[in-house]
Amino acid sequence: MRLSLVVPCYNEVEVISRFHQALGQQLGTIGQPYEIVYVDDGSSDGTLDALIGLAATDESVRYLSFSRNFGKEAAMLAGLRYATGDAVVIMDADLQHPPELIGRMLAEYERGFDQVIARRTRTGDPATRTLFARAYYWLINKWADVELMDGVGDFRLLSRRAVDGLLELNEYNRFSKGLFAWIGFESILFEYENVKSAPDRKSRWTFRRLLEYGFDGLLSFNNKPLRLAIYVGLLLTAVAAGYAVWVIVAAIVQGVEMPGYVTLIAAIIGLGGLQLVMLGVIGEYIGRIYYETKQRPHYLLKQTNMDPAQRLEKRPAPDGRTTRGR
Ligand code: UDP
Ligand code: MG
Repeated sequence: MRLSLVVPCYNEVEVISRFHQALGQQLGTIGQPYEIVYVDDGSSDGTLDALIGLAATDESVRYLSFSRNFGKEAAMLAGLRYATGDAVVIMDADLQHPPELIGRMLAEYERGFDQVIARRTRTGDPATRTLFARAYYWLINKWADVELMDGVGDFRLLSRRAVDGLLELNEYNRFSKGLFAWIGFESILFEYENVKSAPDRKSRWTFRRLLEYGFDGLLSFNNKPLRLAIYVGLLLTAVAAGYAVWVIVAAIVQGVEMPGYVTLIAAIIGLGGLQLVMLGVIGEYIGRIYYETKQRPHYLLKQTNMDPAQRLEKRPAPDGRTTRGR
């Protein structure tokens, strides 16, 4: 069998050679034939030159370079499209995904698993973040159509058929965590100790980005927020009807009074707010439809040492049909 590694890199010039060395050492001890597909996601710090340098000395190195920063999801997609191995391991370039775990992943793959998932523990994470994460995963697993798990990221091994499955999912808004769960297949999970990011390195996960990522997850895999709007609307209508009946009965029994200024203001502002929220939810879905209908490519290539036609755009399916892996 042949192993492919897919490594998205964005401004990783400081660690890339250290990463490559650590990875090469592990792969050497494993002893399977392999290729490493580095995807330079429009770095501005010379990562591409570093990759070209690696490719010059190591013939297992393939690289793809984007015309600008398209995001990690696009970089992973590109890597998966060009990877040719029987199994593919996706890992970060910043040494937060320990290369020592690849051997274990391969062992599980040989036992017949299609997805071998490495799940990080939360040691070293700020307590508030851990709390938010717990609450979020509880919420999303109640709602979403796919099961998502805390600590599970992109670090995993995928069999060829799992990769082909992923490549059939063409959506522009890619929420990988959900896509991995969506394709299914036999999966196994093991834990590894969290590796803290380098102290001088700012995580790209600011609170705001986490919040936005959270909404993405919620909206990408179900239409339940829309359903919620219907339920809340029905509930409020029922409450309003009940209140109206009560006011009418009170007026008949006790005569007409004119209090309720505060109630009125509260109701107007409250309902106005609710309507804006629901409009926002609808807008989010429409926004997604807008981006999907444009059918833009996920990224543009600037440079590569591979044959651009190698991309697995059309692959013959086992039954002779042609499936599009774009
Ligand atoms: N990355 C990328 N494009 C981006 C941001 C990140 O390809 O726009 C890569 C980055 O080089 C790294 C991996 O994705 O290999 C994870 O990024 P990072 O370490 O910043 O995220 P975190 O570890 O905080 O999830
Ligand atoms: Mg990282």
